[in-house]
Parts: sequence; C-alpha cells; structure tokens
Amino acid sequence: MSTTAASPQSPTAAPLPDEVRVAIVGSGFSGLGMAVGLLEDGERNFVILETADDIGGTWRDNVYPGCACDVPSHMYSFSFAPNPDWSRSFATQPEIWAYQQKVVERFGLRPYVRTRAEVTSATWHEDEQRWHVETPRGSLRAQFLVAGTGPLCEPKYPDLPGLDTFEGTVFHSARWRHDHDLTGERIAVIGTGASAIQFVPKIQPQAQSLVLFQRTPPWVLPRPDRPITRFERFLFRRLPFTQRLARLGVYLTRESFVLSFNHVGALRGLPRQVGLAHLKRSIPHDEALRAKLTPDYQVGCKRVLISNDYLPALGAPNADVVTSGIREVRPHSIVDHDGVEHEVDTIIHGTGFHVTDQPIAERLRGADGRLLAEHWQQGMEAYRGTTIEGFPNLFMLVGPNTGLGHNSIIYMIESQVRYVRDALRRARQGRFAAFTPKPAAVQADNDEVQRRLQGTVWTEGGCASWYMDARGRNTTLWPDFTFLYRRRVARFDEEQYETTPVRRREIERETVGV
Ligand code: NAP
Repeated sequence: MSTTAASPQSPTAAPLPDEVRVAIVGSGFSGLGMAVGLLEDGERNFVILETADDIGGTWRDNVYPGCACDVPSHMYSFSFAPNPDWSRSFATQPEIWAYQQKVVERFGLRPYVRTRAEVTSATWHEDEQRWHVETPRGSLRAQFLVAGTGPLCEPKYPDLPGLDTFEGTVFHSARWRHDHDLTGERIAVIGTGASAIQFVPKIQPQAQSLVLFQRTPPWVLPRPDRPITRFERFLFRRLPFTQRLARLGVYLTRESFVLSFNHVGALRGLPRQVGLAHLKRSIPHDEALRAKLTPDYQVGCKRVLISNDYLPALGAPNADVVTSGIREVRPHSIVDHDGVEHEVDTIIHGTGFHVTDQPIAERLRGADGRLLAEHWQQGMEAYRGTTIEGFPNLFMLVGPNTGLGHNSIIYMIESQVRYVRDALRRARQGRFAAFTPKPAAVQADNDEVQRRLQGTVWTEGGCASWYMDARGRNTTLWPDFTFLYRRRVARFDEEQYETTPVRRREIERETVGV
C-alpha cells in the first residue's frame, strides 16, 4: 500500500501522512470523540488536523476570566470517560481543558494529532473518490472527512461605526488578552450572552468603571454550583455506578426542560417566575435597573443563562447598563444612541460566534465543484444533521440542527459518532466506496425537523437568537428530546444514500494494505 497512516509513535509536529482513510478536522470534543471511536473499531489509518498548537477547540480558546460550563460536569464529559475528580458541579475551563488532555493521553490520541495544520481547503475528487485536503503543513488525501469544527470557533465582531479609530485596547472574549491589565480601567463590554455573563462579574470589581452595552437582556436563572465533596469523589472512584447515577440524574433533569421549551407551553410560566425572583433578589433596590434587565420574551428562546454574580455586578456603583445602542466609537469613547459619550480605555466584545455562517463552509468543495457555503446559500441543511447532499464521504459533527438549548452537546456528539462509525464499518465491509444522501431524504428529514420546531420556544419565543439564520430559519437546534435524535442516528441508513460501489482496484489495494 502506497499510503502512510499516522504512526502511533509520531509527535504532533510530524509530517502529514500522504493519505489516510479518515481525516478529522478539529480536536475539540467532536474530534476527540470521533478519534476514540475509530480506535475502538481498530481503525488506525486516520489523522486529526488542528489549527492551533494544542488540542481542545473552544475549551482551549475561551480562557476569559470566569469561563466555565453551564452544563453540570457529570454530563459535560464523555460517557466512556467519566471523571471522578471534578472539583465542582459546574467545571471551570482549566478543568475541562485538562480533562480533554487526559482523554488524549488515556486513549493514546496524541500521535494522530497534527497541530498548526489548519484545513484551508478540502475538495472532493470524484475520479479518485478522495478528498484532497490542504493545510499550511502540506496536503493529504482522505477517503472520508469528518468536520469536527463546531459552531463556536470563529469569533464574531460587531460592525460599529468608528471602531477602527478607537485608540485603546479591543479584544473578543474568545481571544482574551491576558497580557492586558484591566485594573483601574474604564471598560466597555458589548454583549450579554453566555460568555459576557461569566466574565463581567470577574472584571467589574477591578475596573474603575464598567459600561455594559446591552442589546437584549438575557434570562438569568440561579446557578446551583457547589464544590464536589471529597466523599463524593471517593464514591465516584470506588463505586463508578454512583457517578453514572449522578449523570443520569443530570441528564433526565435537563431533558425535562424540553417539556416546557417544546411540548407543554403551559409550563413556561415557571422558569419565568424563577428568573424574575432571581432578578429581584439580585438587585433589590433599583427598580429602573431591574426594568432594563427584564426580558420581554420567553425563557429558553435564547440560551438560558445561569449566574449568581452577574446581576449583582451590574448593580455595583461602578457599573452602568446602556440599552439605547451604540451610535459610534471614537478614539477614546463610545457614544450611545441617546448621545451620551462614555470614555473608555478598553472594549471587550462578548458578541458571540459565526454560527450559521461557519468558516469551514467556505473551505469545503463538493462533487460538483461548489463550495459548501454556496450549497448552503438558502440556509444550512444536512441529513440527520451529519451528511450533506453533493458532498460525498463528508460527516459534520454538531452539524445543522444538532445543537442544543437544553442539554449537553457531548451527548449529541457521541450519537453522531456512532452513526459515523457504523457508516465506516459498512464501508470497510466493502458495501460502498462513497456515499451522498439522496435529495429526497435530506428534504424529508429537514421538513420534519422544521415541523418539530414549530410552536417551540426556539422559533416562537419572541426573540432574535443566534439559533436563527439570516432568513429566520432555525438551522442550529435539535428541538426535541436528545434520545429521539440518538434513535434517528442509531444505524447508518444506507437506503437513504446514493452509494458508489468499491472498484476492483480499490479492493486489491485494501487487500495488500491489510
Ligand atoms: P452569544 O450568546 O451569541 O451572545 C452575543 C451577545 O452579543 C448577545 O447579547 C448579542 O445581543 C450581543 N451582540 C452581538 N452583536 C452585537 C452588536 N453589534 N451590538 C450589540 N450587541 C451585540 O455569544 P456568547 O456569549 O459568546 O455565547 C455563545 C455560545 O457559546 C452560547 O450560547 C453557548 O452555546 C456557548 N457558551 C457556553 C458556555 C457554557 O457555559 N457552556 C459559556 C459561554 C458560551 P443580542 O442578544 O441582542 O443578539
């Protein structure tokens, strides 16, 4: 066999193999979960291509103060790699990143990783039935491509008049400038999403002043965080089923949120009351501020945020919440739409990510030579959120309509990984060399997902959220119980695909390679 698989001895800086069976793009939870699955199936002919100089994806990049997960740790980890040592019910970023590193070591993934190997383009070559993948470290060919790039990788910067004239410091929450001391500064924060609510309370005490530019107030519910006791950790270590039980408890609790978000609208009043009471408790004496911070849409329409210190931080004497919007940025200030000029030293964008216009779509070229971004001009669409018509042998983890507003994304990743593994198993058995989902299957699948979305809080909750694309279609969320999604991808449903048989030449190559 002329191909060179990633050797288990090679370090992350080793040259790229010429050809692999599977190229995984990204080493976040998706890429790592996929790689473990491949190894479990005895597949060693693969490589993980990572843009940065270490593994981890969004949990490597987001190092802002206070960064932590808002899904409890027992559930925000791989089912096959429980961590009995979580220190808190909601793990912090350093702990999650350390967990990812442990997964890499425990399952021996390091030799398959190639860092600083950003996929700049990948093109399907029908004649060879291979993807040609380009990276700054060279190119390789792959029979299958798994995009594990995720929707939260490319920071989104606001388009503000005059921003380029600002003479102070500017950065995004996902590119935190730890070399920049915020102590005693006049800070402007733009955005009130899951990231901002975590870093605002951490930087407010050190700032001379903090002005928060809020476009939409989020619903903020109490954060039931606590340290995990030594006794609990002892139990989890000695009696692993106790941690599995804890995980099941978290899973079922989070799944129950779907009842109110989707199935039983009458239940939506309860989280609203909890949110209002939390606001009142957090800011007891300032009615005007409470009014600014009270959402006018249903709980769940945007991601529900949990925090015990965000709202009190906004009630501090050095904090101000501006809701009129930003008119312009000047060299040392921001002018709001009421004409008030706010002098600032640093602007921090907590403005989220390119979710419905992901950069990877600009880099993948399918069978007819079209970019995925062109194919998705009318909106993102995939079959089972994983495979894409006209893009043979491509799998996308956390693809369209597989994101979640209520539970752990790692559960969804594991569901998709099972589907990919089943497809690859069938390919190994010689059932096909290439596949692409039938147009009718894609259409029916997406029609059904959109039907399920009707009447849910995510489409009709009265807000504008990043779950929706520019055309007002929700192309990001799976709108139902996660076990229903898992059932949909329980097996690779070959009958929904157009497949290309394995050529004789390929069979001979495989036989030689074995
Ligand atoms: P986000 O939820 O997209 O929030 C962006 C914020 O910026 C919103 O408040 C948005 O306002 C505001 N914004 C955007 N453009 C603006 C502009 N031009 N002018 C004024 N405001 C503007 O982003 P994020 O907070 O980084 O969170 C993204 C996602 O990352 C989360 O939803 C979650 O899935 C994930 N995350 C998870 C955790 C976790 O604990 N697991 C933590 C952090 C992030 P509007 O609301 O009006 O659009």
